[in-house]
Amino acid sequence: LSRQFHPDDTLIELRGGHCLGRDLSVIAGPCAIESREQLFRTAELVARAGANILRGGAFKPRTIHRSFQGLGEEGLKLLAEAREAVGLPVISEIMDARDIPLFVEYDIDIWQVGARNCLNYTFLDALSQVPNPKPVLLKRGDHVSLNELLGAALRLYEGNPQVILCERGDKTADRVHRNVLNLNNVSYLKHHYHLPVIVDPSHGTGVRELVGDLGLAGMAAGADGLMVEVHHQPEKALCDGAQSLNQEFAALVPLAADIHRMRN
Ligand code: PEP
Ligand code: MN
Repeated sequence: LSRQFHPDDTLIELRGGHCLGRDLSVIAGPCAIESREQLFRTAELVARAGANILRGGAFKPRTIHRSFQGLGEEGLKLLAEAREAVGLPVISEIMDARDIPLFVEYDIDIWQVGARNCLNYTFLDALSQVPNPKPVLLKRGDHVSLNELLGAALRLYEGNPQVILCERGDKTADRVHRNVLNLNNVSYLKHHYHLPVIVDPSHGTGVRELVGDLGLAGMAAGADGLMVEVHHQPEKALCDGAQSLNQEFAALVPLAADIHRMRN
C-alpha cells in the first residue's frame, strides 16, 4: 500500500462517473434508514446540496441491543430505490458475511466496514473473496493503530484493490465529545500510502456544531472527501440525531470544495 511501490493515487470509479481519489467525494445521508419518507427527503436534501454519494445504514451496530437496529433488507431495498430517484451511487455498512448475497442483490456501490469490524479478520477475508467485488470503505476502529488499519486494508486489497480508508476518531477521556478525529492519521496516510482517505466528522465528534469545522480540518489535512450524517428532521432521528446536520450541510459542501481545489 506504500507509495514507495505505487506512487500514484488509487482511483476508484463509481456508477455515474464519480472518481473517488480524484474528485472531491461528499458522502452524506442518514445514519440509519428509517422509512421511505425519511430516506427520500434526506436524499433529496443532500443531492441538492452537492453530495455525490448517498449513505444510509440498514444494519446498525448499536451499543444498546434494544435500540433501533436498522431495517435490514428493507433498508437496502429503499436505498437502491433512492439511488434511482436522486441519481447518486450508494454506500451502506455490511456487518456480517451472511449478508453478502443481499449486498450483491441490491448492487450496493460501496460496502462499508464499520469501526467495530475493522479487525474482524475472518469477516475481512470473506469480503476479500467476493467475486466481482465493489469498493470497500474501511473505517479505523477507535484505538486501532495505523499498522493494524493498514494490515486490515491489505487483507482486503489482495482480493480487491478498491479499498478506501476512513478516519472516524478515537474515544478519549473527554466525555464532552463522543470521539476525537485523528487528523494526524489523515495526513500520514495521504503522504505515505496510495489509498483514498475519507474523514467522518460526524462519528469523529458526535457533536453537531463541530461536524463542519472538523470536516474542513480533515480536508485541510489532505482527505479526499467527507462522510457526513444528515437527517431531514435530526430531532426525530432514531440514531445519531445529535450529530446529524440539516440545512447546515449545504453551507459545508462549497467550503470543502474550495479546500479540495486549493490542495489538488
Ligand atoms: C456508521 O457510519 O454508520 C457507523 C456506525 O460508524 P462507525 O462504524 O464509525 O461507528
Ligand atoms: Mn451514525
